[in-house]
Amino acid sequence: EEYFTRLNQTEPLLKSFLHVSENVMRDAEEIDKKIARNEELGILAGVLVGVKDNLCTLNMPSTGGSRILENYRPPFDATAVRMVRERDAILIGKTNMDEFGMGSSTEASSFQITANPWDVSRVPGGSSGGSSAAVAARQCAVSLGSDSGGSVRQPASFCGVVGLKPTYGRVSRYGLMAYASSMDAVGCFASSVMDAAILLRAISGHDTQDATSCKCEVPDYTTELVPKDLLGSEPLKGLRVGVIRETLGDGVDTGVTSTIQAAASHLEEIGCTVTEVSLSSFSLGLPSYYILASSEASSNLSRYDGVRYGNQVLADELRSLYGVSRANGFGPEVKRRILMGTYALSAGYYDQYYKRAQQVRTLVQKSFKKALGEHDILISPAAPTTAYKIGEKVDDPLAMYAGDIMTVNVNLAGLPALVLPCGFVQSGDVGLPVGLQLIGSAFDEAKLLRVGHIFE
Ligand code: GLN
Repeated sequence: EEYFTRLNQTEPLLKSFLHVSENVMRDAEEIDKKIARNEELGILAGVLVGVKDNLCTLNMPSTGGSRILENYRPPFDATAVRMVRERDAILIGKTNMDEFGMGSSTEASSFQITANPWDVSRVPGGSSGGSSAAVAARQCAVSLGSDSGGSVRQPASFCGVVGLKPTYGRVSRYGLMAYASSMDAVGCFASSVMDAAILLRAISGHDTQDATSCKCEVPDYTTELVPKDLLGSEPLKGLRVGVIRETLGDGVDTGVTSTIQAAASHLEEIGCTVTEVSLSSFSLGLPSYYILASSEASSNLSRYDGVRYGNQVLADELRSLYGVSRANGFGPEVKRRILMGTYALSAGYYDQYYKRAQQVRTLVQKSFKKALGEHDILISPAAPTTAYKIGEKVDDPLAMYAGDIMTVNVNLAGLPALVLPCGFVQSGDVGLPVGLQLIGSAFDEAKLLRVGHIFE
């Protein structure tokens, strides 16, 4: 009831949700009944979870933020959604997002723009802006998002919450609407690292429905976290932290840089060995990501043809039916990506763009491997700026893309990364949160959570 009261008060201003479940109270009563029957409860019993609208859900619409799927109700749950339900969580609703995950501000949603709870004239980040705003405003306890190039970490940074992008393969993608399949990952939003650890454990593991999901064991992340009262014993002593040189300085707000530097000093104070590390291919990540993500999107989105999937607009013959259904259903950013991707993949340009971008991807992977051989974790800002004003970048796609510089490399390499709030930059009379990004080796989420937890 408390969450609902807050949701009703804040939602008219924030617009985090595209759909609020009618069954929340009924689901809560089911849990009460289980308690009365002395049944064992799941780890998420009674926890209100918001779900990004590109994750398929039974009994609720799933639009992916797109007109083309308006009113679509999937006949199944995404694996991550099924897993939270099986652990007795209550789904509060579906959160707003940039159409199919393409965007960094939620302004590319077909339906509404979500506001940042810290300053409603600003964006919450994207594409999982609804999920991050909902947790920041405590409209729900935790939420699920997706991160193909930063869509969990950048909005977590803008909204001052914890955001976790797991290793590629850690969480099943089954039921996540495909954008850039080689980089898509289901991720978690929470108001503490402990909550993120609990949620990650709940959704991780092998799934026969996703051939890229990993068979490796899922640790109990919560038991790996160091209790706060052991802080005096310097539990992080000797941990080697690398500050990525290319992420501080030119093109990064001075307030963001100084906040991250202060975070690095704090890690040093608590016993870590902090040094600078250079990732030489860092700046190449952005063009490589946008070529690969658009290429994969152009192929993945061909399923929305008004016949197999997507709302249909009738026409005289089949080809025009495809054409008008897609022209009508997709928004401008999605069309731009399909055009860019189709161009990059076309016969005459394949070597010049797609193949080149794949070669760059290998370089990025190698430079992370080297840096993570010499350091236990790497740190950087999660975004070069704090949350910007609604409308500020909407007419300048390149400026919008450039804001993803801190996050896309991690997806190219498939690595896990945790973002947590580590300070504020004053803007007029509001303080805007700054997120610290911790990057680790594949399947070593436990270490990131351990460091992040101590940091809180
Ligand atoms: N902003 C990036 C893009 O538009 C990343 C999106 C994402 O991670 N889904 O592609």
